[in-house]
Amino acid sequence: MPVYRFHCADCGRFDATFSMSDVPDHTPCSCGAYARRGISSPALSRGGRAMALMDATKSTADTPAVVDRVPTGSRPGTPTSANPLHAKLPRP
Ligand SMILES: [Zn+2]
Repeated sequence: MPVYRFHCADCGRFDATFSMSDVPDHTPCSCGAYARRGISSPALSRGGRAMALMDATKSTADTPAVVDRVPTGSRPGTPTSANPLHAKLPRP
């Protein structure tokens, strides 16, 4: 949920979280006065899961997982068709 910056004439700036569709132009401040919404871009991501995902993605790009041997076990085979007409199709 985006974070919006509001400005109270007495207390100064503070941040509040609203959904994009419900963000008001004014919101009550802790002092009881109404604070005016400032003009700024909404902070869509401040840490949390999005930042953790970006860190994990960057980590795999810098230090990819390395295996020391070929994986063992059976892999599922390539599915083939039993239709004889498919054998006449051009091959790549
Ligand atoms: Zn205030």
